[in-house]
Amino acid sequence: MSLTIVGTVAFDAIETPFGKTDKIIGGAGTYVALAASFFEKNTNLISVVGDDFPEDYLKMLNKQGINTDGIQIKKGEKTFFWSGKYYDNMNKRDTLVTELNSLADFDPVVPDAYQGSEYLMLGNLTPTIQRLVIERIHKRPKLIMLDTMNFWLDKTLEELKRTISMVDVLCINDEEAQQLANEHSLVKAAKKINAMGPKYVIIKKGAHGALLFGNGKIFCAPALPLESVFDPTGAGDCFAGGFIGYLSKTDDISFENMKNAVIIGSVMASFNIEKFGTERLLEIKPDDISERIQQFIDLVRFDIKKENIF
Ligand code: AMP
Repeated sequence: MSLTIVGTVAFDAIETPFGKTDKIIGGAGTYVALAASFFEKNTNLISVVGDDFPEDYLKMLNKQGINTDGIQIKKGEKTFFWSGKYYDNMNKRDTLVTELNSLADFDPVVPDAYQGSEYLMLGNLTPTIQRLVIERIHKRPKLIMLDTMNFWLDKTLEELKRTISMVDVLCINDEEAQQLANEHSLVKAAKKINAMGPKYVIIKKGAHGALLFGNGKIFCAPALPLESVFDPTGAGDCFAGGFIGYLSKTDDISFENMKNAVIIGSVMASFNIEKFGTERLLEIKPDDISERIQQFIDLVRFDIKKENIF
């Protein structure tokens, strides 16, 4: 099949208890596309950068098989910049800086070669741009998934709700789900979000795994218990990329297959947090992924004989 992704391609500066980086390549679109490209060989990226963005980084994405024809390079403008700091509890972080730069007036163009993509991933960026991409794809994809974050919930809630009403799957973290639904219980929040439009809701819970809601069912995936998390940046995006990349590759959007996709998403997130930025994603090979899938299977497999209990 074919997968089109829109999301930020960015410079990030990250600080964790393990160290600090200068500006390195990041962005939701970057992480989603890198994670998805392991599964879907026909992966297209739409984004915008300034002319300060090194060509080598785009070549790196191409080397992973990602089509970057949909990335606009704005002359005289700067690339989106984000800076974040993590403390000992890696599930929490502070955003120190968000500079939209070239993202501020980005008018996305969907290249002809991307038209006809069966799967569309609206990665984290301005909700209006996410909606424009839906509207500019001539034939509605088989599945549209959206990810967002508190920045857009705080700044553009009504526009975000409008875009959310147009998608099939919403992927969001627990605090954002609570904020969006104005509801503390994640089960109730997922129901309220279902009523906003998306048939499926995925709630990411950082080191505590993820929940998939849909068709009146719930599936719960663990996160891999790791002794230490090096850098959680992009984990949510790698989760989304693994999820949608696997669905696109298998072309099966049943709830049963989405359960597998949630595991694949968790696997990709578990790699990403082992090193700074995109470093780990650029090292791993399909065999590493297979091995880790097995670790997840072993982690959750149990066989209780109910008749032996009472
Ligand atoms: P995650 O850790 O999965 O939430 O994603 C982190 C990535 O999101 C970083 O690489 C940032 O460049 C990018 N990012 C941070 N803030 C925003 C924002 N407001 N909109 C789009 N992307 C963002």
